[in-house]
Amino acid sequence: MTSRLHQLREQYASLNIDAFLVTFQPHLRYLSGFSGSSGIGLVTPRSAFLITDSRYTDQVRQETRRWKCYISKNGLFEELRARRLIPASMRIGFDGNTVVLSQYRLLKKLLPRAAFLPKVDCIEKLAAVKDPLEIASIRRAVSISDRVFGEIIALIKPGITELDVAAEISYRQKRLGAEGDAFETIVASGERSALPHGRASSKKLERGDLVTLDFGCVVNGYHSDMTRTIVLGRPKAEVKKIYTTVLEAQEKAIGAATSGMRTCDLDAVARTHISRCGYEAFFRHSLGHGLGLQIHEAPRISVRSTATLQAGNVITIEPGIYLPRLGGVRIEDDIVVTNDGCEVLNRSTKELLVV
Ligand code: ZN
Ligand code: ZN
Repeated sequence: MTSRLHQLREQYASLNIDAFLVTFQPHLRYLSGFSGSSGIGLVTPRSAFLITDSRYTDQVRQETRRWKCYISKNGLFEELRARRLIPASMRIGFDGNTVVLSQYRLLKKLLPRAAFLPKVDCIEKLAAVKDPLEIASIRRAVSISDRVFGEIIALIKPGITELDVAAEISYRQKRLGAEGDAFETIVASGERSALPHGRASSKKLERGDLVTLDFGCVVNGYHSDMTRTIVLGRPKAEVKKIYTTVLEAQEKAIGAATSGMRTCDLDAVARTHISRCGYEAFFRHSLGHGLGLQIHEAPRISVRSTATLQAGNVITIEPGIYLPRLGGVRIEDDIVVTNDGCEVLNRSTKELLVV
């Protein structure tokens, strides 16, 4: 945690700021270890201050070290002013992607003589490179999701609803030690599987359906995220073809991923294969995303992304093909980028499962 603060402060000179105000919960957790839902941090060149409310009096002291912690009575920003932590004319950076306009206006009103300057990616770019402890938490979350997938296959039968499947996934992940679901579980069957983000509905699974399961869980604040597509009954020839195409695209991307590679080039590995097989128009989302204290974080793996992969990045690889009426196939694994390739964290089979 000390080195994370150090890495943030190292950016102050080039950003032309004197301090950084942290208001976004995953950023504050990354820098301080504090996992409460309400809090702000101020990182000055020599100190780090954390303000939260009285619900977290004990928790903030247990979870943070070397942060000076205050409990606010009348609002977090108001406490920042009352404690006189920001001298007049101080130049304060904040994350321009997460501070909302009402917060910005309140800061300007409470501290009119300080300068508040929006900056982007200062913390995200640090958080994108995981240390071994962070990777261990993600590994644990992935192994729970993998195990639940193995259990859930037996439940995929005609007659069960998508919502029932989603509830079983959530329950089983928690029974195995997850703190919660990583996001609202996607269970999309039949024609609905052609919706890349079809939330579970009351639709019953039917013979002949493709069923896409996209789910994950949280361990120590860190997320897992996996997708598998199963077919109920004998698959049509075109289903087999799109399944094979998606699987080949996913494995080609996994085979290519390594530190130093541009993320847009990694996206292109999968997209080119899908295009060659004739399905370019049916793979309309990006190939993947970073994974950590947030379910979607840097680096993004898309046609337009400009980032370069670094050892320690944890990303998803999730190509998909979605055909109206027939349904969709997506396969998603979580990988750790290394200096000579990558390590795939998921162990679940990627063979087409026919149940
Ligand atoms: Zn997913
Ligand atoms: Zn994902």
